[in-house]
Amino acid sequence: MKFDILTLFPEVIDAVLGSSIIGRAIENGIISVESHNIRDYTKDKHKKTDDTPYGGGKGMLMSTQPICDCFEAVKEKLPDGRTKVIYASPRGRIFNHEIAKELSQYDNIVILCGHYEGVDERVIDAIVDEEISIGDYVLTGGEIPACIMVDAISRLVPGVLSDKECYEKESIASGLLEYPQYTRPRVFNGVSVPEVLLSGHHENIDKWRLEKSLELTKARRPDLYEKYIENQSK
Ligand code: SAM
Repeated sequence: MKFDILTLFPEVIDAVLGSSIIGRAIENGIISVESHNIRDYTKDKHKKTDDTPYGGGKGMLMSTQPICDCFEAVKEKLPDGRTKVIYASPRGRIFNHEIAKELSQYDNIVILCGHYEGVDERVIDAIVDEEISIGDYVLTGGEIPACIMVDAISRLVPGVLSDKECYEKESIASGLLEYPQYTRPRVFNGVSVPEVLLSGHHENIDKWRLEKSLELTKARRPDLYEKYIENQSK
C-alpha cells in the first residue's frame, strides 16, 4: 500500500512516521510513505504558495497552482490500483476505525495537508475525493491528521503488525474497550496482579477479560456498549 502526502512541511511527516512500527513497515517494504513538498512546485518567483482570500478576511489561503502541479507529478507515478485522494479538513467525515478499515482496502492513498486558513476551494473540487476530519477541533495544519490516518490505516495492512489478533482484540476494533493488562512484576507498590491472570486457566481468564471490557465500556462509552449488546442479540 502506498501513501503520498502533499504538504508544506514534509519534515513533520518524516519525523513522525519514520520510526517504530510504521518506520519498520516502511523499511520492510510492506507500506510506502512518500511526502512531497508543495513548495517545490510553485511557479512564483518568491516561492510563495499562498495568498490572501478574495472577499477579505483574516489569514492566507494555499493557492491552486503549486498544489495541483504537485498532485499531477504524484499522480503520474502512482502504481496501478485503487486510489483515494483525501483532504485533511475539519469539514470532513470524522475519522474512526470503520473508515480506517475502509481505506485500508485501497492500493494508493493521497493525503493533502492544508495550512493557514486552508486551501482554495477549486483545489478540492479538482483533485479531492473526500474530506476527512480527525475530530471536532481545529489544528494549525493537516500534517498531524495525515500521520494519524496513515498510522491507523497501516496497522490494518497485513504484515504491519505481527499478528491480526493484535488489532482485532483491541479497544474499538473488538466493539468494546480493552480490559486491564498487566506485566511483571507480580506485585508493584503493594498492588498485586489479579489472581485469575496467574491461574493459567484460559477459560476463566477470557471470562474475566470480557467482564472487565463490558464493565469499562458500559461506564466510559455507553454508546459502544449499547451497540455491542444489540449486535450480540442479533
Ligand atoms: N479555515 C479552516 C476551517 O475553518 O475549516 C481551518 C483551517 S486549519 C487552521 C489549517 C489546516 O489544518 C486545514 O486546512 C486542514 O488541512 C488541517 N486541519 C485542521 N484541523 C483539522 C481536523 N480536525 N482534521 C483534519 N485536518 C485538520
